[in-house]
Amino acid sequence: MRIIPKKRSAARETLAGRGLRTTRARRAILDQLRATDVHPTAEWVFRQVRRRLPRVSLGTVYRNLRQLVGAGLLVERPDPGGSRFDANTSVHHHFTCVRCGRVYDLTEPINPALHARVAPRTGFTVHYHRMEFYGRCANCSSPRTRRRAAWRARA
Ligand code: ZN
Ligand code: MN
Repeated sequence: MRIIPKKRSAARETLAGRGLRTTRARRAILDQLRATDVHPTAEWVFRQVRRRLPRVSLGTVYRNLRQLVGAGLLVERPDPGGSRFDANTSVHHHFTCVRCGRVYDLTEPINPALHARVAPRTGFTVHYHRMEFYGRCANCSSPRTRRRAAWRARA
């Protein structure tokens, strides 16, 4: 498994392109999500956006996050600790660290053979699938594993 580098695609869907009026709060929320890969909660987004727009309310952040999800500009990820939001709307897998809770994007390719197996067994039409991996991230692994990961990263 490889972690997706921070690089983002140049082609960006705009608010207007998805039928949403550009407000300062909406713009700031979307910018904030696009600038991070931590898959944050609404509270995290609120704390960041408040630095730029001190009068923004948590309610405004929640409402705008829902609207951005509805417009297809964000993906909402259900999480035991509350919803998390992802500006990377391409279909990709995730790794969740059970220790620090951080959610990482993975570059593992989507396996079309899985579609081919699931479809005939269920009679369902598969449009896409995403897989969830759980474990300890490199930062949270034992010192030995951490050293090995660092060594591999250099190689
Ligand atoms: Zn971790
Ligand atoms: Mn993601």
